[in-house]
Amino acid sequence: MLARAPTETAAQDYPKLSPFECGIRGRCPRCGQGHLFNGFLTLAPRCEVCGLDYSFADPADGPAFFVICFVCVPAVIFGLWLEVAFQVPYWVHLITTLPVLLITCIPPLRPLKGWLVASQYYYKAEEGRLIMVDPPAAPGSAPHN
Ligand SMILES: [Zn+2]
Repeated sequence: MLARAPTETAAQDYPKLSPFECGIRGRCPRCGQGHLFNGFLTLAPRCEVCGLDYSFADPADGPAFFVICFVCVPAVIFGLWLEVAFQVPYWVHLITTLPVLLITCIPPLRPLKGWLVASQYYYKAEEGRLIMVDPPAAPGSAPHN
């Protein structure tokens, strides 16, 4: 009988959960019950329900990248349009453009980060590693199959 590694056993005891649903809700990608965050954007060290260690998670600048590309640029375009079309005074930007920027850029960060971390767990994404293989055969030697 083959013995499985503890992490392999623990991972197989849980159903495969949708990384999108878990991440958007900020829940543990393995059990779907525990909290992923320990604050607004700070990841908890581990799941309080199943004990999954979140040290594998490294979304880096991913959430900020998606927010900049898909939300921040349209909000800035709104501010530019307001300025070019109506030449509004600065206080109008303060009560229109600034809230639009804050409301559209800050709230999506958390669900995006959760989704990226849950996807990293689901797809077992990690940094690439070099694997040492047998040295190449010497020239003139017979290939082995
Ligand atoms: Zn969990």
